[in-house]
Amino acid sequence: MILFEEVTKIYGEDEPALDGVSLSIEDKEFVSLVGESGAGKSTLLKLLLREEAPTSGRIFFQGIDINTLRDNEVPPFRRKIGVVFQDFKLLPSKTAYENAAFAMEAAGKSNQEIEEDVPQALALVGLDGKGHRFPEELSGGERQRVAIARALLQQPDIILADEPTGNLDPRHTEEIIDLLLKINELGTPVIFATHEQGGVDKLGKRVITLKNGKVTRDVKRGKYRI
Ligand code: ADP
Repeated sequence: MILFEEVTKIYGEDEPALDGVSLSIEDKEFVSLVGESGAGKSTLLKLLLREEAPTSGRIFFQGIDINTLRDNEVPPFRRKIGVVFQDFKLLPSKTAYENAAFAMEAAGKSNQEIEEDVPQALALVGLDGKGHRFPEELSGGERQRVAIARALLQQPDIILADEPTGNLDPRHTEEIIDLLLKINELGTPVIFATHEQGGVDKLGKRVITLKNGKVTRDVKRGKYRI
């Protein structure tokens, strides 16, 4: 569903942030994208969201070269992608329920759909009964669950999680990774970007390692692909 063909991204006069990256990600995959800070993980995700354009190379999403999309095609394209960030990006003045409902409202869904789907999504992420709480009344792990519920309610074709556990302690980190795995098992592909190599190798899922903008390792269920 995703294909990077020799993608290079150079900001200004700097060294390439991504340097000739080629990779493909299939439907339903769970992919961990690991690398130290500055390795190019966020750049790869920004290119995939068309927030940045590659300096050279092409990126296909569901067979479409995303850099050929017209401006008015970009918002509907982005709605296919659910994004989860390290800092949650919740609105502090809205409850967990309202935060989760936000993407549905933005997409023009009916009140009936929102009232049906939001409680289901909150239950799926383990927040049953906490919809009335404001972000400051939730733990970091719970806030990230709200953000994941919000992403799911977009009914995305893929979820991109950029360091979603970066602000969490080890217990909450494990819980959020388990939740992303569960969502993947329910059928949504997930790209999980993290600087913590240790945790992802034991997941039994594909791990792509970036170093200085290059893919240095791509392991699928224990087998080296390059
Ligand atoms: P990671 O997510 O793995 O930490 P990034 O993709 O954020 O890596 O960064 C890769 C490289 O690109 C780094 O050297 C970083 O400083 C640089 N970079 C990222 N974004 C920008 C930007 N908007 N302008 C200039 N340089 C950038």
